[in-house]
Amino acid sequence: MKNLTIGVLALQGSFREHITMLRAIGVKTAEVRLPEQLEEIDGLIIPGGESTTIGKLAIDFGLFEKLRAFGHKKAIWGTCAGAIFLSKDAHRQQPLLELMDITVERNAFGRQIASFETDLKIPALAKISSDKAPFHAIFIRAPLIATVTRDAEILSTLPDGRIVAAQQGRLLATAFHPELTSDDRVHRYFLSLVISNRETKNKLTGEQ
Ligand code: GLN
Repeated sequence: MKNLTIGVLALQGSFREHITMLRAIGVKTAEVRLPEQLEEIDGLIIPGGESTTIGKLAIDFGLFEKLRAFGHKKAIWGTCAGAIFLSKDAHRQQPLLELMDITVERNAFGRQIASFETDLKIPALAKISSDKAPFHAIFIRAPLIATVTRDAEILSTLPDGRIVAAQQGRLLATAFHPELTSDDRVHRYFLSLVISNRETKNKLTGEQ
């Protein structure tokens, strides 16, 4: 896998499941808890968990501004709480990286269906896989992506049009949890963003 190292923010939440999926694909992984660990990775996954807690811990661990700087240069994928953390606005007082031009509505599915599973169409996956099957998505106290503006694009919606995945160049946000399935297509899609971002940077700087 082109000597990639993918970090997973390991402050809280479902980081181990992402590590397991990445290892199965064959990429090097690193659990990220310290600012200097960001220098050794090509892309970062921010896992699901509790977004206010992840944000507060990122501040306590001296990671907050470093994460923001990382996202200005390198690929980040946020799943669920991680997607909230990447957003510009979650309509609550909580630390947000504000890297993506998306706003989110936390816990958007209410109590009755706090957790559910459904099949999604994610057309962009055709770029990395010939498998045309829908993606079986697991939602756990999930947010919705309420608005997608400026340079951000919608990647997937529920059948009623509510947005559950978005992309802005090298930045990816999913309201659901691909790391809890055995389908590695979204992970491989993220790796393709990491690789193309790295190749663009190398072309600009002349590095190999
Ligand atoms: N409900 C959580 C939040 O608002 C997200 C849940 C998850 O990451 N599975 O932060």
